[in-house]
Amino acid sequence: MSFASRSGAHEEERHLPVPETGPVSTGYAPIIEAAHAREPAADCALCPRLVAHREADCTPDSAGRDGPVPSVGSRNAPLLIVSLAPGRQAARDAFRPFADEHAASLLYEALHTAGLAETPAPPAVHDFPEQTLYRIVCTTRCRSPENLPQPSEIVACNQFLKSELQTMPNLRVVLALGVLAHNATVAACGIPFSRTGFHPGEITSLPDGLRIADSHHLSRHNIESGIVTRKTFRHLVSKISEEIR
Ligand code: SF4
Repeated sequence: MSFASRSGAHEEERHLPVPETGPVSTGYAPIIEAAHAREPAADCALCPRLVAHREADCTPDSAGRDGPVPSVGSRNAPLLIVSLAPGRQAARDAFRPFADEHAASLLYEALHTAGLAETPAPPAVHDFPEQTLYRIVCTTRCRSPENLPQPSEIVACNQFLKSELQTMPNLRVVLALGVLAHNATVAACGIPFSRTGFHPGEITSLPDGLRIADSHHLSRHNIESGIVTRKTFRHLVSKISEEIR
């Protein structure tokens, strides 16, 4: 599929290979499941360190919520939010991205203020609206020790991010939360890093025409130290809203 057919604004074709296989059951029903999306298996073992972490951290309460965290939001959305990795609470309690109170509060409040989310708080997972203007995916789907995936794990999970990009027909803008999310998005698009840069607070065009909005990662440290402020993040999301609405 060419990006021109999505936005009508760019001539170049996006060089994203078509997935070779159909969907793989995750053991958990995602909010929206497209017919040809590639999802990791519930027991995906491509990252040995994360599998060991999953097994060490497993409790009877977490049964069925130890594996890869599914994305949320509509595949028809014009905005894809790419985060780093699910936090422990996100993975274990809510089993979705952005359940951490600091990050979720900042994200959903900004989306709501910009008219992109119905409420300023994350919807309950079982009440998540089917039609949203955004979709949220993690660069690595499994939780990591200290929330820090290693480069090889980001590479291993990149096929699933690539599939997300391929199965969003109305995608206009990617909001990359952190330089690792930015780089993973660029890699998923098959674009050399030398042709892009990470520009927090700005929206730029990738060589294939996809727009990318960069923000520092919404980690507790970045929020509490003022590296990410409510005001600057809200301003960035407001600019995204102007582009896609
Ligand atoms: S991070 Fe991704 S590739 Fe690695 S084990 Fe989890 S689902 Fe598989």
